[in-house]
Amino acid sequence: MSERCIHDLIFDHCADCKKPPKGINEFVYVTEQGQAFHNWSDCAFLVAGQDFAERKGLDTHEVVAKKWSLVFSVRGACEWCCAVYLMKKLPDLESIVRINSEWIPAYYVRDRYKANYRREVQVVLKNSENIKLVDEGDFKH
Ligand SMILES: [Zn+2]
Ligand SMILES: [Zn+2]
Repeated sequence: MSERCIHDLIFDHCADCKKPPKGINEFVYVTEQGQAFHNWSDCAFLVAGQDFAERKGLDTHEVVAKKWSLVFSVRGACEWCCAVYLMKKLPDLESIVRINSEWIPAYYVRDRYKANYRREVQVVLKNSENIKLVDEGDFKH
């Protein structure tokens, strides 16, 4: 017999207990009118969407945390903060990044224009598998 969750369902069938796929957090962030869900409450794309709505004089809605399974099938994954998930495989482009003045191995995920002619680079740290954002000056292939 399969193991059952506290809701008496098979784990994979329970929306509350089912684990998110790799690259998606257990809790994600949405706004009422947004099309995407975000792994990070401070995702640049989420913030940009809020700015855009403000400039157009639209109501901006507060950012709310949701269990991933509640929004996963009805909204798209954000291209920026869910990039690892969207790659459909683990990143394998080796690079090094400088964190606290130390260069450590990482895998390149994506980069984006930030501001002031700088780019920021999203990487997965090789040892911890944590996702980090670094300035392009702190990144080398
Ligand atoms: Zn359950
Ligand atoms: Zn995002």
